[in-house]
Amino acid sequence: MAVIRFNALKEAYGRKPICVEPPGLLTSDYFGINVFDRLKMEKYLTAEAFGQVMEAIEKGSSIDRKIADQVASGMKAWAIEMGATHYTHWFQPLTEGTAEKHDAFIELLENGSVIEMFSGKLLVQQEPDASSFPSGGIRNTFEARGYTAWDPSSPAFIVGKTLSIPTIFVSYTGEALDHKTPLLRALNAVDKAAVNVCQYFDKDVTKVIATLGWEQEYFLIDEALYNARPDLALTERTLMGHASSKDQQLEDQYFASVPERVECFMRELEIECYKLGIPLKTKHNEVAPNQYECAPIFEECNLAVDHNILLMDMMKRVARHHNFRVLHHEKPFKDINGSGKHNNWSLLTNTGTNLLAPGKNPKTNLQFLTFLVNTVKAVYKHADLLRASIASPGNAHRLGANEAPPAIISVFIGKQLTRMLDHLEEIVSSKKMTPDEKTELKLNVIKVPKILLDNTDRNRTSPFAFTGNKFEFRAVGSSANCASAMATLNTAVAEQLVAFKKEVDKLIKKDIKKDEAIFQVLRKYITDSKPVRFEGNSYSEEWKKEALKRGLTNVSSVPEAYDAYLTEKSVKLFTDFDVLTEREIIARNNVRLDTYTKKIQIESRVLGDLAINHIVPTAIKYQTLLIENVKGLKDVFGEKDFKDLAVGRIQLIEEIGEHISHIKAKVEKMIEARKVANKIEDEREKAVSYADTVFPFLDEIRYHVDKLELIVDDEMWPLPKYREILFNR
Ligand code: ADP
Ligand code: MG
Repeated sequence: MAVIRFNALKEAYGRKPICVEPPGLLTSDYFGINVFDRLKMEKYLTAEAFGQVMEAIEKGSSIDRKIADQVASGMKAWAIEMGATHYTHWFQPLTEGTAEKHDAFIELLENGSVIEMFSGKLLVQQEPDASSFPSGGIRNTFEARGYTAWDPSSPAFIVGKTLSIPTIFVSYTGEALDHKTPLLRALNAVDKAAVNVCQYFDKDVTKVIATLGWEQEYFLIDEALYNARPDLALTERTLMGHASSKDQQLEDQYFASVPERVECFMRELEIECYKLGIPLKTKHNEVAPNQYECAPIFEECNLAVDHNILLMDMMKRVARHHNFRVLHHEKPFKDINGSGKHNNWSLLTNTGTNLLAPGKNPKTNLQFLTFLVNTVKAVYKHADLLRASIASPGNAHRLGANEAPPAIISVFIGKQLTRMLDHLEEIVSSKKMTPDEKTELKLNVIKVPKILLDNTDRNRTSPFAFTGNKFEFRAVGSSANCASAMATLNTAVAEQLVAFKKEVDKLIKKDIKKDEAIFQVLRKYITDSKPVRFEGNSYSEEWKKEALKRGLTNVSSVPEAYDAYLTEKSVKLFTDFDVLTEREIIARNNVRLDTYTKKIQIESRVLGDLAINHIVPTAIKYQTLLIENVKGLKDVFGEKDFKDLAVGRIQLIEEIGEHISHIKAKVEKMIEARKVANKIEDEREKAVSYADTVFPFLDEIRYHVDKLELIVDDEMWPLPKYREILFNR
């Protein structure tokens, strides 16, 4: 067998589980031990500093320098007690993952010795050389400075020996260069807008937070097999590989018992996450072989986003302890399910009310309906933008592939709520209601809780589904930073709530009673946003046709999906709510397009190299063997008899020859297409060119490689096969 593959398999199949447990500890004994959370702040900070930090968290107020010094000193004291030697501003640039630059706590004294130092200045703001982070043209290289600034609403934590301080990352001129900045602005916008609407129902509401509970899907692959697949190692997805005869068709993997080696990985991951205060709750096998999922208890959105990105980082680290590699890519393997990251989202008031949970009385139920209907309306209005917010080269393989929702954004609310909204639409009218109608309406609204309790019809095919007390945005990709989808959704909802309040107030001014005014506006919204509501199978062909009729967009091209960021409607949305300036929006789109181009370029190069350097030579070797065999048959059986005997072999020789010719020709054409695309200056045009002229070759070339995999002697094949990668655990 090819040496690389043989060695990789030998290594992979000899693995034993490695398990760790915190000796005799309950989870509650060590949960959050590595986090500078409220309890620790209370202990390590002065009462004044603690008060200001709490206010900053709750009200977004700023912290003055004197207090920052006190916080830094308390944080340092705690971190050093915990054995930390370094600190870092931890931020989320527009690449995937996070960035950090570690500095030691030391400060040199005049006598040559050092002391541990950490001042408020260093806590609050830093100036990393930012010239190598994507900015989309915002930063010129001569003005490469970028600033990281402390986000007190996400607590500092220790990983290894480093105190990590969550920060935003902005340019010298104040433009956002990260994922966190627009998210924080969006969360602020939705807070204000939602509080104002809540005032109709409950005067005690002074703060509304968005909540997020993500579900992270991923694959675990043995490290040796991963290393023997350059495509996995360089692109996180397999660019070739014939389907395994058995993969997920028996549905025997979903929720099946977790293999021991994986269980040990999951356990260590949980322990590490608990130490970091990430409340992991659920874990299970997913549909595809070697695919798993984990989900925490939901948290405040900004914190949940940080925790997700931190979890992804911990996964990578912990996987290595178990000789696994974790794949966050949306589609690492062809023909089996890819991975997503469902974003469960809701709004929660300071009075403890989940605004998307039906209440116990008509008043809270009307509030529930208000937020439900406004969310549907917001999703309808900004469907194209929401679709853009989850578009990525990886996610493109997943959307619409009969395992994930299509690229058409629609909303599922369930049978009973549909009936309820239909009913509202019928009985409310713009003319004054009769007392009977009002009674009926109220009764109808009272019915909500009972209805939802037995609303178990879960539609798994919907990209945006109401699931009893929250919406679940299912189209988010597994490798994505949730901030992109969450910033968009929360801003869209904020805009909608502001518009709603304006309309209701207008009616109230015209002496229409508050409840009736609310009903009237909701009714209009129910009618307006009807096209986005879909209860059927979103995977079906009929839905595509139906959606087209309803005027919903279905953009499958990633670079074209990004255009939605630049429409007047989207620019207005983001600028009205101070989430992004027009300059920031354009810059971000350039980064997205550039990332798209580069990813396809890398995949194309890797596939070209593998096909020409690994696959074609192997196929030629086997073909030569067959040719020699045929020649031998001729020697032994003579010119007259050998032909019948050699028929099958000659066919194979020809087939191999054809596949080789196709591969060779297509790789050349693909390289030509790249050359043409590379010359294009405009980022969008270049990305479109990559999507339209380079990307299709990936599948075309792969087709021939995968056929060869079935023909060529297994002994000679250089790369681990699907059946080997996916069934080793
Ligand atoms: P499923 O796989 O059936 O969708 P899970 O239990 O795996 O459900 O995940 C549901 C997620 O939704 C969890 O992270 C949970 O904490 C989260 N969730 C529950 N209520 C809310 C809420 N009000 N806001 C945001 N997320 C929520
Ligand atoms: Mg889910």
